[in-house]
Amino acid sequence: MISIIVPCYNEKESIPYFVREINKVIDEMKVKFELIFVDDGSSDNSLELLKELSKEDKKVKYISFSRNFGKEAAMLAGLEASIGDYVAVMDVDLQDPPKYLIDMYEGIKEGYDCVGLRRVSRKGEPKLRSFFARCYYKLINKISDIEVVDGARDFRLMTRQMVNSILELREHNRYSKGIFSWVGYKVKYLEYKNVERVAGTTKWSFWKLFKYSIESIVGFSTVPLVLSAFFGILLLFISFVMFIILLFGQSSLFGLITLILFLSGSNFLFMGILGIYISKMHNELQNRPLYVVKEHNIK
Ligand code: UDP
Ligand code: MG
Repeated sequence: MISIIVPCYNEKESIPYFVREINKVIDEMKVKFELIFVDDGSSDNSLELLKELSKEDKKVKYISFSRNFGKEAAMLAGLEASIGDYVAVMDVDLQDPPKYLIDMYEGIKEGYDCVGLRRVSRKGEPKLRSFFARCYYKLINKISDIEVVDGARDFRLMTRQMVNSILELREHNRYSKGIFSWVGYKVKYLEYKNVERVAGTTKWSFWKLFKYSIESIVGFSTVPLVLSAFFGILLLFISFVMFIILLFGQSSLFGLITLILFLSGSNFLFMGILGIYISKMHNELQNRPLYVVKEHNIK
């Protein structure tokens, strides 16, 4: 059986399209399926729609959160509830075209543990956003031990073994692309051209993406901390040299002010970096549940 996990946040427009497309694929594949929709605290009537669907079709299951917990939490809830031998995660807006499931399944049968989708063009995306995305991928791959493939989507089909490994990672600051890569296994990427969402609007603002990228760096790299220590040593060295120069009487008020600004500025910057890591530790220590389920029809 294949479990398909679909996070939905205010997606009443997209859900009907998605169901139609996925059912075409299911009919073609002749494998048993379960569809797990995770309603991430939608305020439109996505949940009512899902409930109706589950009445008509018993392979449709839903989990509904008490509020919006984010796509990461929704994916986790779906993975935990899934019982399939293979599990796929998929967006509801058809930006993860369901037809690729067929090729993914082929890949799994060839012996891969995971087959994902990687977009090779960023057409239809704002230029600035593409630019920042590229920089981000370069950075995270340089400063962390994990490899995050540029353009790789969350959309992937995995074996039960790999899903179980993913579920063993209990961190609260979840960054799935990092987690998928961290657990290892044999992964294959299919390439495809970017498609626009079928209905509704994106739930990701630039700010949300920016926060998400910081999250991923903090979760998978300590380089920023090391960098701050290194920078501190450098500054100490510079101030030592300046002190020597001062001994020879080369001082000016202007130089002093520049120095003070520079030092206090860098101080604030690195205290900020420390603060981010400490706040993440605080998060983990609190050990709150990652989501709250209000209702579901999982047996
Ligand atoms: N999503 C979610 N919770 C959120 C934001 C998004 O479950 O807080 C779901 C959304 O319904 C969609 C998927 O995550 O199925 C991807 O979201 P979106 O299409 O808005 O992101 P984009 O494709 O623009 O990156
Ligand atoms: Mg989308």
